[in-house]
Amino acid sequence: MSVTPEELDSDRQQKAREYAGIRHRLLLVDLGIAIVGIVIVLFGGVGIWLRNVLQPLNWQPIHGWYPFQVLVYFVAIMLAYQIITFPITYYRDYLIVSAPKSQTSERGKVLLHRYGLSTMSLKNWLLDLLKGLALSLVFSIFAVELVYLLLAAQPQTWWLWVAAALLFFSVVMANLAPVLILPLFYKFSPLPEGELAQRLLALAERAHTRVRGVFTMQLSSKTTAANAALMGLGNTRRIVLGDTMLDRYTPDEIEVVLAHELGHHVHRDIWKLIISQSLLMLGGLYLVNLVLHWAVETQHYYQGLADAATLIVMPLSNGYSRAIEYQADEYALQATQKIEPFKSAMTRLANQNLADVEPSPVIEFLLHDHPSIGKRLKHADEFAAHHDLPVQGSESRASLSAPSSEAASSTDPAGMASSGSSTPDAAH
Ligand SMILES: [Zn+2]
Repeated sequence: MSVTPEELDSDRQQKAREYAGIRHRLLLVDLGIAIVGIVIVLFGGVGIWLRNVLQPLNWQPIHGWYPFQVLVYFVAIMLAYQIITFPITYYRDYLIVSAPKSQTSERGKVLLHRYGLSTMSLKNWLLDLLKGLALSLVFSIFAVELVYLLLAAQPQTWWLWVAAALLFFSVVMANLAPVLILPLFYKFSPLPEGELAQRLLALAERAHTRVRGVFTMQLSSKTTAANAALMGLGNTRRIVLGDTMLDRYTPDEIEVVLAHELGHHVHRDIWKLIISQSLLMLGGLYLVNLVLHWAVETQHYYQGLADAATLIVMPLSNGYSRAIEYQADEYALQATQKIEPFKSAMTRLANQNLADVEPSPVIEFLLHDHPSIGKRLKHADEFAAHHDLPVQGSESRASLSAPSSEAASSTDPAGMASSGSSTPDAAH
């Protein structure tokens, strides 16, 4: 293991910017398809046609609520969307992240962008995709039925009830996800006794926080990227460390990363995220409610409008998340006083995970739930300056003083990303 701090790899940064650019363009395409789809369904007659086709499913347990119609309508639209966007999903989540083999033709022309972040076979990737989709369908159907039921039963205050139900569901999911959902996608095992475990226990003791365990997560079965996270709530709360981090980072670097996670623990960040997202959702739903009553429309408008509410809420919740992450960094620096390992670990993450250290401010504002790695490095320098701490190797790092970006955030567990739940089960 090298003792010298990690240097930012300019080749990898070049790739990271390219990779981020591709993903952002695909996001726009995806969004475009969704918007066109919603317009076609709502105004192109598809929605009305589908509703007429589903007319026979008119069981109505509560006045104005047709659960079978809603079910088939929603499943049909969701599956159609998944099928139409499958080429994008395949390209974005499998092809370009797969290993860079046969990248060039005989004439040396680059045929494909491949970034080698994934270690999955096509079969396993498809299997995970289907698992994620099935989970997502179950949760979404439950949510949609609930929304329609409340719309029928409580047309004036439905948004309040939906927000309350989402809050309850978020708490339950935050508690259960690490033991029920994530093991469907990853293997977990307790961090073996040893120096690291000792260090963490010592850190936790100094923070007067009882840690319910540190686990390693077998990320290497799916990705080459590294990550760490605080997961769970109450009796399932735990710190999770990707095995892709264990073998490549110095003990000091891992300690400061764990200190960041412990900081989330001490700050009760999962609760903060759940509460803040519920409040944002409440605001979003209230807006939808206003629009609905203003438009006095058929029930088939609700779904699209609820999605629009999520779009409004996303930048706000990302902004809050970035503030929380900044605080966890502050905690990690304070608790360990390890400035150089912190910067080295951040740089290593950028190199390993293809994280663009300097995303455009607009992209960061809209999409990033962590401050950019550039900002996190700057934060460490400012902390060091403010507390009069030595920063070794700061000269070699001078090139990083420009504002740069995004960190460990680039590896959301595959299954959770597609489960469609807003549960902040992982604060990394
Ligand atoms: Zn974090």
